Amino acid sequence: MKRVPPGSTIGIVGGGQLGRMLAMAAAQLGYRSHVYAPEASGPAAEVSAAWTQAAYEDGAALGRFAESVSVITYEFENVPSAAVAHLAGLGHVQPNAQALEVAQDRLLEKQFVATLGGRAAPYAPVEDRAGLAAAIAQVGAPAILKTRRFGYDGKGQARLADDGADTLDRAWAEIGGQPAVLEGFVTFAHEFSVILVRGQDGAVRFWDSPLNRHEQGILATSSVPAPATVLAQLDEARGLAAKVAEALDYVGVLTLEFFAGADGPIFNEMAPRVHNSGHWTIEGAITSQFENHVRAVCGLPLGATGLVATGVVMENLIGDQADAWPAILAEETAHLHLYGKHEARPGRKMGHVTRLLADAPA
Ligand code: AMP
Repeated sequence: MKRVPPGSTIGIVGGGQLGRMLAMAAAQLGYRSHVYAPEASGPAAEVSAAWTQAAYEDGAALGRFAESVSVITYEFENVPSAAVAHLAGLGHVQPNAQALEVAQDRLLEKQFVATLGGRAAPYAPVEDRAGLAAAIAQVGAPAILKTRRFGYDGKGQARLADDGADTLDRAWAEIGGQPAVLEGFVTFAHEFSVILVRGQDGAVRFWDSPLNRHEQGILATSSVPAPATVLAQLDEARGLAAKVAEALDYVGVLTLEFFAGADGPIFNEMAPRVHNSGHWTIEGAITSQFENHVRAVCGLPLGATGLVATGVVMENLIGDQADAWPAILAEETAHLHLYGKHEARPGRKMGHVTRLLADAPA
């Protein structure tokens, strides 16, 4: 157990909106944040005490960063695992490098979860174009081809409606011809996530599981409580998530995404970090995912995760949807979050809004 007291500096690898919200939660508890990222700036910059701009391969910069902080965490799973392993040799890194390694590779992640009894969509690994033909013969069409690494928000994915050679050529080109996994297309009623926090003592707490609605592969809304069909699958999904956390000796917030299939939860992917589908916890839960992540990595007692309203809906503001901020602010009870990004490109997460549902009148 390593307790990092308030007043210390937390190192955050990655400087996006998740880092911003982590740094804000850290500041509330009296910590300072130091961000390490290859970019010159980012959403976490305005709310952090220090920012190191350096490549993930820069051993000297990683060394100076590790020396300047009391604990290191990350907000982004595409950090090269070698950088995190290097930092782990110099300081205290939570979640650990193994969790990152598993979660950043779709194939390893599926294999790992299967060893713990989890069920994923039918899939086959793909190494090259010839392998794609073999994979579709095994998995069948329709299917989705996903890069093993560096995919997010529907990027690094191609959908295959049929198994024709043209379709295979197009899909292979679309993902840039790199190692991938071909997944059979699952029919599901709903998508949901399990968000948990595990402390250094192994104690696990779950937030309510949100129903997640995606548009074009990007999360559009997360709402709690989820419908009964999802609630009926939660015991199994939470059981799997807890096993994953324990097997990885995980510390911090961990998210697993599922499809609610006809025969139970189908594992989609995991994120070794705070997650977009948990943003509603900032106003909607007693303790937010960001605060509990800070508490866990700093060895502090975890806060309660219960709901503070009968229901909560979080809506992402993607691209120019963020231009609606005046109307959102005119709703007296809406909680608006803007990430300070300068350019509203299509598909870019610019902010989110959380609405707590009022109790029905008696
Ligand atoms: P992912 O990046 O894997 O979360 O995929 C983005 C979104 O694409 C998911 O949230 C689903 O809405 C959809 N999707 C991904 N994989 C599948 C699948 N095997 N079957 C059906 N829909 C999928």
